[in-house]
Amino acid sequence: MATTNQYPAKAYGATAPDSGLGPMDITRRGLRDDDVLIDITHCGICHSDLHSARNDWGRTTYPIVPGHEIVGTVAAVGESVTRHKLGDRVAIGCMVDSCMECAHCDADLEQYCQNGGMTGTYNGTDRRDGSPTYGGYSDRIVAREEFVLKVPDSLPMAEAAPLLCAGITTYSPLRTWKIGPGSKVAVAGLGGLGHMGVKLAAAMGAEVTVLSRSESKRGDAEKLGAHAFLNTSDRAAMKAKSGYFDMVLNTIPVRHDVTPYLHLLRIDGVQVLVGVIDMLPEMHSGLLLGRKVLTGSGIGGLAETQEMLDFCAAHNVLPEIETIAMQDVNDAYDRMEASDVKYRFVIDMASLGG
Ligand code: NAP
Ligand code: ZN
Repeated sequence: MATTNQYPAKAYGATAPDSGLGPMDITRRGLRDDDVLIDITHCGICHSDLHSARNDWGRTTYPIVPGHEIVGTVAAVGESVTRHKLGDRVAIGCMVDSCMECAHCDADLEQYCQNGGMTGTYNGTDRRDGSPTYGGYSDRIVAREEFVLKVPDSLPMAEAAPLLCAGITTYSPLRTWKIGPGSKVAVAGLGGLGHMGVKLAAAMGAEVTVLSRSESKRGDAEKLGAHAFLNTSDRAAMKAKSGYFDMVLNTIPVRHDVTPYLHLLRIDGVQVLVGVIDMLPEMHSGLLLGRKVLTGSGIGGLAETQEMLDFCAAHNVLPEIETIAMQDVNDAYDRMEASDVKYRFVIDMASLGG
């Protein structure tokens, strides 16, 4: 039987596009039979959190509590829960529900659910009671057991957090387009997603090049596992790599011209946009006659996300993180916007106080 006792939770959220984030008291629902209550230990900060808190995409409902790179331990389980038990190290990514019966959900692509789309971890609407969903900048969360993943023992909790979005969003396209030994991959934008893209593609055996505006990141690119660094403002260097890459994994978070990156692709090469959600500037379709593919990709399904966590544990692929207190989140947003993060902020939830 479902419990009716709700759980008070401490959180940080925004009340308007320009409010910044501040302390907020919220309530987590009482456990349904298939629910898990998680004490959150860490939550990563994704650029999507910033876009959402500031309503960059025009679809934010306030108040909003961002956070979809969530790790913690199981504190209680509903009566029918079989996947998780008290004390387990677990994680939640960008979605907390989907219909689980459409063709896409059946194909383990819950993020593309055909019945109303996935239910976002925040800024979503609970499928059963219509209440708003609140994310991981909080000390606890309740979610349906299928959407709760297992954190492998060898992954430290703080480092595991960014894998739930930055990790899976880059892992999924690399797998979809069968990147492996011999592949030539370029990663555009060396931020949270980009640095995971570099590490994952390198771990899969690809030759990896970083495409960046920031000359200051040249040294880091190599340390992260890249074989080359291309400053995108260096036209001659860009031209020299024309027709070279199998894939450009484009993580740039703003509207921009994707043409220079298409030039870098070989025949049948693919540019995957995972960053920008906006109208793109005009481009000449003639460029695609070289049988180049321009596409996008959204996070990854539940099974693939678990596979990615296990892959990262097996190959010791961990993000570079800067751990911060919850109270410093607004500064972290400003620094992220200025590309001043190496390479993912992670909130230590102990800072919220017991
Ligand atoms: P991030 O940490 O801020 O990194 C983005 C990087 O892009 C920056 O470090 C910078 O790299 C480059 N960049 C930033 N502004 C730029 C500009 N004006 N022009 C050109 N390059 C710029 O962000 P993130 O967390 O990785 O997220 C990246 C994007 O992916 C966001 O828009 C986010 O919403 C989106 N996202 C999508 C999915 C999905 O499912 N598709 C999932 C998660 C996030 P350099 O300094 O190297 O140039
Ligand atoms: Zn994200």
